[in-house]
Amino acid sequence: MPDAKRGRRNKSEAARRAKKSVLRIIPLGGLGEIGKNMTALEYAGDMIVIDCGLKFPEEEMLGIDFVIPDVQYLVENKEKIKGIFLTHGHEDHIGALPLVLPRVDSPIYGSPLTLALVEHRLLDVRTPYKPSYNEVKAGDTVKTGCFDVSFIRVSHSIPDSMALFIRTPVGTLLHSGDFKLDMTPAGGAGGTDLASLASFGKEGVTVLLSDSTNSERAGFTISESVVGRTLENVFRQHKDHRIVIAAFASNLYRAAQVFSIAARFNRKVMLVGRSMISYVELARKLGYIDISQELFVTPQEAEKLPPNRTVVMTTGSQGEPFSGLVLMSKGEHKQIRLGDRDTVVVSATPIPGNEKLVSNTINRLFECGCDVIYERDMAIHASGHASREEQKILMSLVKPKYFMPVHGEYRHLVRHSQLASEMGIPANNIFVAGNGDVLELDSSGKLRRGSRVASGSVLVDGVMLGEFEGSLLRERRELSESGVMAVSVVVDGEYRLVSQPQIDSRGSIYGFEEENMRPDIASAVERALDNVRGGSVDRSSVVTEIRKKIREVIGKNYRAYPGIMPLVSVIGAALGPRPAGGKNGQSPKQRAQGKLDRQKSGKVV
Ligand SMILES: [Zn+2]
Ligand SMILES: [Zn+2]
Repeated sequence: MPDAKRGRRNKSEAARRAKKSVLRIIPLGGLGEIGKNMTALEYAGDMIVIDCGLKFPEEEMLGIDFVIPDVQYLVENKEKIKGIFLTHGHEDHIGALPLVLPRVDSPIYGSPLTLALVEHRLLDVRTPYKPSYNEVKAGDTVKTGCFDVSFIRVSHSIPDSMALFIRTPVGTLLHSGDFKLDMTPAGGAGGTDLASLASFGKEGVTVLLSDSTNSERAGFTISESVVGRTLENVFRQHKDHRIVIAAFASNLYRAAQVFSIAARFNRKVMLVGRSMISYVELARKLGYIDISQELFVTPQEAEKLPPNRTVVMTTGSQGEPFSGLVLMSKGEHKQIRLGDRDTVVVSATPIPGNEKLVSNTINRLFECGCDVIYERDMAIHASGHASREEQKILMSLVKPKYFMPVHGEYRHLVRHSQLASEMGIPANNIFVAGNGDVLELDSSGKLRRGSRVASGSVLVDGVMLGEFEGSLLRERRELSESGVMAVSVVVDGEYRLVSQPQIDSRGSIYGFEEENMRPDIASAVERALDNVRGGSVDRSSVVTEIRKKIREVIGKNYRAYPGIMPLVSVIGAALGPRPAGGKNGQSPKQRAQGKLDRQKSGKVV
């Protein structure tokens, strides 16, 4: 075939493929939950990802450190991924990167602060993986594959937050990131860039994906500078007290305000908490906080100053165990003892799920005798998210054809979708989706639901130690509810008991019941060994058989259902493979995997 002809055919094939192609909007996290935000956009052979966050575990997730999105779909399509675009540096947007990046190996794009925080996290987990960092700032546009991504400045509770305007071959998307319309954020950072939003609105926004966190809150979110004035009043009214302020370490606007007020009131600042110290250090290094080193004192220097000449800036505003404020409230902090000459300001609202921890901390602080100022009293905290009036303003600025609420629990998404409907967006053009629900935008500009992709949660126990699925958690829950009983069984080469079985239990039953159970357990073990000797049960299944017989008898006689761990030693026999079913000598990961494999093959033990 002549080259020219072949060229024409390739061209027309490409044109046909492009015609058939749709833009797939693939939410992988952040819908129906607060946390692990992640959305992929896919068109033909190109894909980009927006954010890659983690979620903090729920109370019943025993021993789990955090939860990340299931990224199986991205791993399967990793050669398509052109970049991960980060809206800002909060954990629920960047926290999963250390685990996800090495698996998908993609360049990342973000503001200087966001990238510095990613780098910090990677260093923290000591991964050898070195990503390709691409620094961007508001106003920039990055072209990659068939996508054009423009960055827009928005106000939020961490500096350098951005919304994304994305041009694709079949339409445009505006992703709000986490935003509010605060026009007077602290530190002269400049508020949300309404002019740019309006001009992208003029160009035309096919789909708006918008932050739903505060869709239940009427009105406007208060400005960060109002919080500054409230804090200033606290300093004015509590002249004789030491002032302790607990806030999110990442809320650098808050920190900057505290520092400048402290300087004006001639107080020195002591920082408490690892993350507080490292965030402030990073922000000063990158020039986000312009405060001289002289303002800060070490705990030793602070001790020499009169209490009313110091301010303590600490972590713990969420009642996190082992955080600065919580240790202080328990009288367990090494450097700070609280008393009636302290005023404590809790400058944050509890994240849903943390209410009880925060409430307990406030109770303990009052017990210490200090004055406690928390959210109910006055404006000592501003949310980082838009309230309903602001969400409406964004919609009216960009006039989207389609609306998809993101970043929120299901009720937040629904309330946000109702707002869109009030704003005149037709019901058919509003999509309340869940993680894994794909929306497809075709070349005629029509958005519809597509087929689902794999999505879900991966639980992480220990940084980079391993990723577990639900079975490990079930095992832990069972242990926490019913405890565990170890039964040591010593047999000879013929599987006859050499001595009485030894029993020990944890979290299971009281000692006297254990005494009563002893004969029952011994005879259960005998019955199991009879079956092994008789040949009805294979020797390799001796552990499983003993577990089964013990479980039957103590369930029936005592209504107790602890996890049973038989430890069988065969003496006088040549050393061969261990009886199957034992769990010793395996790592938690192997155990979890083993259990998963057993479940996959339909054998649950
Ligand atoms: Zn955020
Ligand atoms: Zn967020």
